[in-house]
Amino acid sequence: MLHVLDTTALFNAKDFPVDFEIIVPQGVLDELMAWGLNDRVRLLVGVRIFVEAPGKDSVEKVKQFAEKTGDIDRLSPTDIDVIALALEKSVPLISDDYSIGNTAKILGLKCIPMETRGIKKIYYWKYVCRGCGKEYDRDMGECIICGKELLPKRYKSEDI
Ligand SMILES: [Zn+2]
Repeated sequence: MLHVLDTTALFNAKDFPVDFEIIVPQGVLDELMAWGLNDRVRLLVGVRIFVEAPGKDSVEKVKQFAEKTGDIDRLSPTDIDVIALALEKSVPLISDDYSIGNTAKILGLKCIPMETRGIKKIYYWKYVCRGCGKEYDRDMGECIICGKELLPKRYKSEDI
């Protein structure tokens, strides 16, 4: 059974079922190296863990949807590749990351949390200045009017 895993899931995974095969973008392995790739994962690369790059079209589609929900600013390029790969292969992805799960759901992908419960709703985000209250669609870092920090805020949710 093929699954796409994000870095945290692969890092935290203790063991996989026998018929479990994993596909990841290169970025996941790079991040794992930086975190200290353990021997267990190293031995599985090329055997049960396969590295593949998602196509440009899937990456663009993921970005478009993530912009729509406002998750884009909380997704790393590797996170986007992870979702794009699951999209391209039509396989479930395993992640505990909220924004990955949210974006996966809106794309119609199955996202299985490792530890947390499943996401039941799709949330849309906006950013609100903690100083003057001005609202932004994107996380600009700080308010262009008063320079204060922007806080993410859910403004809409859908039951799915
Ligand atoms: Zn402000």
